[in-house]
Amino acid sequence: MTEALYCFRCGDPFTTIDGCLYCSRGDMGLSPLLTELLVAAAAVATRGETLKPVENSSFRCVRCRTFMRQMDKIGLIFQCPDCSMHYSKQITYNMVERHGHAKWLEPGQSALCSVIVIRERDAKLIPERLAERIQHTLKIPGHKAWQLTEELQKVGQVVLFTGHPQDAVLVASGLMTEGIRVELVET
Ligand SMILES: [Zn+2]
Ligand SMILES: [Zn+2]
Repeated sequence: MTEALYCFRCGDPFTTIDGCLYCSRGDMGLSPLLTELLVAAAAVATRGETLKPVENSSFRCVRCRTFMRQMDKIGLIFQCPDCSMHYSKQITYNMVERHGHAKWLEPGQSALCSVIVIRERDAKLIPERLAERIQHTLKIPGHKAWQLTEELQKVGQVVLFTGHPQDAVLVASGLMTEGIRVELVET
């Protein structure tokens, strides 16, 4: 049996149902995948990468209940300041987007989202590459991707409406590259 883990939303100890972690306060059952990822990550006592935290997070460390720190701008990588448990993109994505906590997600809280793509000043971007990446990430026709690329080159930023926060996170992480900054906004 592994050591007890705590709910990342409310800090109560997780119980287990059918081998999956479960928070009874939030009536939140974790998927087999997230259960496996968290148990494996909690068992590793590495200090992770030494990144500078960007922001505090309202999520708690599953190993020690301390509030995590967000290590990147768009909130895909977290780390615990106390025990240094590292939360990878895959874990965070699954925690944030796939697992609703009854006492956390109020109705209407799942706001519509957009992604603002900003070209960094003096960034040397290869338009063909960028268009390809946009086309691939947004799954849109080539000519549309070109339109967005031209707008980005000319104006310096484009706003992409993705509709759902889950999609916004995916789009943002797909477009993040050198010379490009992405921001998520609720619309
Ligand atoms: Zn909970
Ligand atoms: Zn911790």
